Amino acid sequence: SVTRSDEIQQQRSRLPVYGEEQQIMEAIGAHPVVVLSGETGSGKTTQVPQFLVEAGYGDPASGNPGMVGITQPRRVAALSMAHRVAQELGSLGHAVAHQVRFDTTVGADTRVKFMTEGVLLRELAGDLLLSRYSALVIDEAHERSLNTDILLGVLSRVVRLRERLAAEQPGVHRRLRLVIMSATLRVDDFVKNARLFRVPPPVIKVQARQHAVRVHFARRTPAPGQHLAEAVRKVGRIHRRLPAGGILVFLTGQAEITHVCKRLREEFGQAGGEGEGEAAAGEPGRVEAGDAEDEDVDLGGGDLAAAPDDDDFAMASSDDDDDDADDEDAEPVIVGGDADAEGRQQLLGESLRAGGRGGAAGRLHVLPLYSLLPAAQQLRVFAAPPAGARLCVVATNVAETSITIPGIRYVVDAGLAKQKTFDAQTQVQRFAVQWTSQAAADQRMGRAGRTGPGHCYRLFSSAVFNDQFARFSQPEIARMPLEGVVLQMKAMGLDAVANFPFPTPPARAALRRAEQLLGWLGALDAEGRATDLGRLMSVFPVAPRFARMLVAARQGGCLPYVVAVVAALSVGDPFVRDHALDAAEAEAGGPDDGGAETRSLDSAELAARERRRALRRRYWAAQARLAGARPTSDVLKWLTAVGAYEYAGATQAAADAHFLRPKAMREIAQLRAQLAHLVHVHCPGAAPAGAAGGRPLRPPSAQQQTLIRQIVLAGFVDQVAVRADLAGGEAAAAGGARPAGLRATAYVTMWGGEPVFVHPESVVHAGAQGQRQQMPAAVVYGELQHTSRLWAKVVTAVDPAW
Ligand code: ADP
Ligand code: MG
Repeated sequence: SVTRSDEIQQQRSRLPVYGEEQQIMEAIGAHPVVVLSGETGSGKTTQVPQFLVEAGYGDPASGNPGMVGITQPRRVAALSMAHRVAQELGSLGHAVAHQVRFDTTVGADTRVKFMTEGVLLRELAGDLLLSRYSALVIDEAHERSLNTDILLGVLSRVVRLRERLAAEQPGVHRRLRLVIMSATLRVDDFVKNARLFRVPPPVIKVQARQHAVRVHFARRTPAPGQHLAEAVRKVGRIHRRLPAGGILVFLTGQAEITHVCKRLREEFGQAGGEGEGEAAAGEPGRVEAGDAEDEDVDLGGGDLAAAPDDDDFAMASSDDDDDDADDEDAEPVIVGGDADAEGRQQLLGESLRAGGRGGAAGRLHVLPLYSLLPAAQQLRVFAAPPAGARLCVVATNVAETSITIPGIRYVVDAGLAKQKTFDAQTQVQRFAVQWTSQAAADQRMGRAGRTGPGHCYRLFSSAVFNDQFARFSQPEIARMPLEGVVLQMKAMGLDAVANFPFPTPPARAALRRAEQLLGWLGALDAEGRATDLGRLMSVFPVAPRFARMLVAARQGGCLPYVVAVVAALSVGDPFVRDHALDAAEAEAGGPDDGGAETRSLDSAELAARERRRALRRRYWAAQARLAGARPTSDVLKWLTAVGAYEYAGATQAAADAHFLRPKAMREIAQLRAQLAHLVHVHCPGAAPAGAAGGRPLRPPSAQQQTLIRQIVLAGFVDQVAVRADLAGGEAAAAGGARPAGLRATAYVTMWGGEPVFVHPESVVHAGAQGQRQQMPAAVVYGELQHTSRLWAKVVTAVDPAW
């Protein structure tokens, strides 16, 4: 039995899910699979695990001694929800733990375990029955991450198997309960999919007390890039004119969020003076750029250089001629089914009053929220703002459904989402900012109606919403490379991948392409079954290409280097981008340069300008140092970065000195240690893999560098491009017969199609300049990204003499 504080008990009893405890637990008792859908903030994530615990699940002395496992698509949510549930469970709080890729608090007495989906998928590879669990909760199923879909497919079978075994050998096996939780009502893909669940699982819908939200569409949709200024302006108006209540702003990523937070703090943060210092995002002086919102996708495969180029976005063009919908004074669109008349009245009255008032704004307590933010800073959004200040959280779509921030009354929505898309045929990845879906925009809108009636300001017109927004977001499985998933499945003995009960089956062509690649990598035999090599590769928690590189490096003297390279490539781009320098400096307290032209330059500003110049000089010097004297490969630059960081003590200062992202560097170090250990265990007789605790990496010899480049080629056999002027035939005609300038040198891939260019950031350009005055005859690329051109990134020169 559990004892809780009165305050917690009161908060719980106000949540809609709380009143449904009996119905939910009866359904879970009677059915192997139950779907629970309910508005975000209704208490699903925090309460359902507690119901299970109080019903005895996870209690070693009960009939269901296995743990209660809850999966989350994002690390942020796994950490913060574990924290919250521990708090709510009072006397049993110690029994709640979390596990994410490199961090776990799971112990012998753990009863409730929050984890990322990748963690559970890995456990499946080791124990297909998941016998350590008595109940599993797949949370945020509506997000349709690749891992969610795979988990649901596998778990539908595991549940059946456990059911059967429990009937046959009751002393040895026990049932497994599966709860699928979803924020929107679109559960048909799970419920009406007979291949997934032969017997449709019952659906429990929790009715949330959603208050009326008045939606304001913009009269005009801002031009691409203008949405940040527009967001700042809108927050300012709300803050100056409208009654108390938190503001939640939806933007697409860390760079945008940092920028907007800075602007807002400048305008509204300093009024009260004190206390705002600690509210600055990030620790002052820290440079933590890069923008990978997708994290912990352990099986994602091809996750090279996860950080997108913010300035490279190809934005869908938006029409801005429509003025059917209005800003402040149009016919109000009030959404929120169960909104009482009083609520509507209040909203309308408020807007009227507010219109005539102004100026009495207090301080704005501005907080960022995105995945790469350290956990402690993420949790600050749950604390009450300082007295007299208004809370303003600037967030990515993590605040859309996984995290409910208390007291939000106003939502400002740019309507955009950053998504990685992937073309299975050409293997081209695009990181694009696109309009989000109507369903997602409505979720965001709903955030304003949790505690009382609210307002949602959409920074786009209703015509754009109706004509250009998809109804729902596309499941991730349609947008991701599949070789990692396919290899994991094959290694588990699930050979007929095409028959796997996917909630939404991926395109046949994408599956074929994945099997083809795995064949080239030597992971599958001619019949499409996992080879010994393939099974060995599946042991490593990295994409198959990288696993292939590790396996290729077993012999020969460069295993420690390849372990480091693979760790770095798996974690993603460790370099701070030059455009992130301003943000970093701003957070360190440096004055701003925007709008400086209109003011006269005083000496402080001149000094600031000089500081920025010096910072940039140091930045470019660091880049050149890491690239080396005669660079032949971006991969070797990454390796040098890992070595330099380690040599300098692997500290925050070491990362700063080389303009590396400290968080990425820490993760690379952790993954290196993990991979070195796995190589040691699974590849007996391999050369020592170094890393962790050993001697620091010495710079590789010329011979070793060549070997490393060859191993990169082994992992990317299908991603070789030849200079167009050498490729002959049509290709030469398409790309220009002679290499023009270095940057204009076109390549053709073995897949044909559009010419490819080596990205300007690649060190291969500098190497070409130094030696041959022309680009290498052939290159291996880590990924192709489409923006203004088709760019090859993370490039390694291939030497025809090999
Ligand atoms: P759902 O999963 O249905 O979206 P949750 O269980 O996540 O709902 O949230 C229920 C309530 O718990 C929300 O009002 C949320 O603000 C609150 N909550 C969640 N985490 C914390 C926390 N760390 N501190 C305070 N309140 C929290
Ligand atoms: Mg939730």
